[in-house]
Amino acid sequence: MALTKEHINEALSGVMHPSGEDLVSKGCVMNVAVCDEHASVRICMTQGDPSAAQPSREQLAKIGAVIDASVRSTARDQGVDDLGLIVDFVDHQGEVVMKLKGDQKGVMKDKSQSDKHDPNTPTPQNSGATGVPGVKHIIAVGAGKGGVGKSTVAVNLAIGLARKGHSVGLLDGDIYGPSLPTMLGLHSMEQVVIEGALQPFMAHGIKSITMGKLVETDKPLIWRGPMAHGAFHQLIERTQWGELDYLIIDLPPGTGDVPLTLAQSVQLSGAVVVCTPQKVAQDDAVRASAMFESLGVEVLGVVENMSYFIGDDGKEYDIFGRGGAQTMAQRLNHSFLGAIPINMALRANCDGGKPSHNFDPKTAGGESLPKALEGMVDQFESQVMLSSMSKGSNKPTLTIS
Ligand code: ADP
Repeated sequence: MALTKEHINEALSGVMHPSGEDLVSKGCVMNVAVCDEHASVRICMTQGDPSAAQPSREQLAKIGAVIDASVRSTARDQGVDDLGLIVDFVDHQGEVVMKLKGDQKGVMKDKSQSDKHDPNTPTPQNSGATGVPGVKHIIAVGAGKGGVGKSTVAVNLAIGLARKGHSVGLLDGDIYGPSLPTMLGLHSMEQVVIEGALQPFMAHGIKSITMGKLVETDKPLIWRGPMAHGAFHQLIERTQWGELDYLIIDLPPGTGDVPLTLAQSVQLSGAVVVCTPQKVAQDDAVRASAMFESLGVEVLGVVENMSYFIGDDGKEYDIFGRGGAQTMAQRLNHSFLGAIPINMALRANCDGGKPSHNFDPKTAGGESLPKALEGMVDQFESQVMLSSMSKGSNKPTLTIS
């Protein structure tokens, strides 16, 4: 048994809006995410009637308590006894009006007020997290563990989006092991600083910034959590990004203190989880997904890297058990953004600082790699659009004169 989005929607259809309709029928449910024992729901009480007044905080707290009781009871029926539930009430523009977090004993707390004072509780997204002026979507690329191709996916996603005409920035948040200088071929370039502002590198059609160009990378970076956090913040805030459609952040691997702190310190529009097909890798990816969702960050989808190998005979070999990550994504109700094959050209192009070559069949060892990467980019774009629509930020406005 597993708790799914459908179960939660069913629970929400039993919760009444003050108008007398239930929340689902009234269209108030903007998003539902679930992963193992964590779930988050996003509710807009004024959906369909932006001029209506928001309910008072007391009313929202009461509705939140009913949502909590209903979802929790459904979760128990599915064998989840200790659900961690986040309820975000948002206005029709997607701004969080109130954030409630149900602890595993079922006590709903108003986290919009209390989190900043509780050093043991991660600060939720949108409360104290930094946005970046001029940047439309900030997307984290995370993985449950290192070596699965997280940076490779981040780099290729950024370049793929730029090839489709978007303005894209890439931030190497993997501050302990920055790989962007190598993958983007930045070694011969100097970091330029103008009036205290870091100027991003411009290569392969994207802007990028990396700790690897600010410190000596052959010395180990022995930074404790707060130092890493401070360095990351400076990279984000002191870089002159300009207007961007997407800022892709390559997070440090894992779900420990550092990736968690970094993920919660910037206002993310969503996250992509990278995973290889094996069962052990999936377990790590489930944790990465749960980390994002516990922060109230929507997982836009899962990418299966090193999915299969195409031999010289043209045959496809499922070395690691192709499809494992896709099954995992389905189980978690996440979208699947695509499968990237194990490919010698991909490795050589990335390690040689020529990632744009991955998109050209002549330098990518044939058609299959460019196709796989472009498919991933298309899926990603669709998910961002769907997510923006469900958060209400990109809705078309109908003007009647
Ligand atoms: P992570 O960021 O998860 O630690 P990287 O993206 O740095 O992993 O990838 C680790 C190594 O594996 C790099 O040398 C990269 O070029 C290689 N690699 C990643 N994905 C693939 C792939 N699909 N095919 C071949 N090599 C790959």
